Amino acid sequence: MPSESIPRRPLSDATDKPRGRYAPSPTGSLHAGNARTALLAWLVARAGGGSFVVRVEDLDRARLVPGAEAAMLDDLSWLGIDWDEGPDRGGAFGPYRQSERTARYDAAIHYLLKIGRAFRCACSRTEIARAASAPHAEDDEGPRYPGTCRGLGRSEVEERARALGRVPAIRFDGRGERVRFTDDVRGTIEPLGPAGIDDFVLRRADGVAAYQLAVVVDDAAMKIDEVVRGDDLVNSTPRQIALYGALGLTPPRFAHVPLLVTGQGDRIAKRARPSSIADARARGMDPGEVVGRLASSAGLCEVGTRLSPVALLARIPSQCELWSRLNRKPAIWD
Ligand code: GLU
Repeated sequence: MPSESIPRRPLSDATDKPRGRYAPSPTGSLHAGNARTALLAWLVARAGGGSFVVRVEDLDRARLVPGAEAAMLDDLSWLGIDWDEGPDRGGAFGPYRQSERTARYDAAIHYLLKIGRAFRCACSRTEIARAASAPHAEDDEGPRYPGTCRGLGRSEVEERARALGRVPAIRFDGRGERVRFTDDVRGTIEPLGPAGIDDFVLRRADGVAAYQLAVVVDDAAMKIDEVVRGDDLVNSTPRQIALYGALGLTPPRFAHVPLLVTGQGDRIAKRARPSSIADARARGMDPGEVVGRLASSAGLCEVGTRLSPVALLARIPSQCELWSRLNRKPAIWD
C-alpha cells in the first residue's frame, strides 16, 4: 500500500474534537516512561479540546499483576491526568478492558477469514505465544513466518494441528505488503522496510486475540483519532495499518514518542521500582514535581519547573505546537 493512499485524519485544530487514548497493560506498576507517554497522549487530546480514553490491555493473562490496573489508574489520577472514559467510569464505547471485548475480536477474525485475509496455522506455540502482548523492541513479533500453513486448506491445517496435538492459531495474510506512513513525531517512515508485512498472529492457539488485532479493533471502535505511544511499538504500526485496510477502516494518526531511558541508556522497565510513580509518591515527591520532570525531559518546560498537567496544557497552544517542541531524543530519567 503506497503511503499516498493512506488517508490521514486531520489535526483536530481544524475540525472535530479529537479522541485520544492511553492503553496500559496491567503487568506492573506505572513507571516514569509510561507516565510520560500518558502525559503526552493526554496533552495531544486536550490541546485539541478533545476527550481522553483509558483502555486496559489485559489480554495476556499470564503477565497480569493483581492490583496493577487499580494502582496504575490511581497513579495517573495522582499526577493530574484525567480521562472521560475508562474501565472505572464506563462510556459510550465500552467496555474498556480488552478481556471483556472478546466477541468484537472474534467478529473481526471471522471477517478476515471469510475474505481470505487470514488463515489457520498449526505452527509452533512458542512463536505464537509472543502475540498477545504488545511487542517491544527486544521482543518483536519473532522470526518471520515461513508461510508453512498459508497455502493449506482448513482441513489440512486442522489435520496437521491434530497430529501435533495443537489447536490452530489464526494469522493475517500479510502478503509482504509495504506500508509507509507519516508519523507526527518521526515523519514519513517505513519501519518494516522492503520486506513488508509478515503473516503475524491474530489469534493464538489458546484462543486469545493478539495485541495487533485487538488494538486495531478497539482504536477503531472507540473512534480514536490519534494513537500516541512509545516508539518501541513503531514496528507494529505498519501491521496495524494493513489490518485497518483489510477491515475497511481508516487508520488514526500515529505519534511514536521517544522512550525514557536510565542513566546507563537502558529502557525503563516496569520491574524497575526506583522509576515507578509509586516510588516517587512513597518518597514524598509531589505530583507537580513529577509532571515537571516528565515535561522538561520532553522539552516542554524548563528543568526545575513544577506544574500540573492543566498548567502545562495552558503553555501548549495546539497539537502542532506540541509535536514541534517535543524533544526527539530518548531522555534520561534517574
Ligand atoms: N498496551 C501496550 C503497552 O502497555 C500499549 C499499546 C498501544 O499503545 O498500542 O505497552
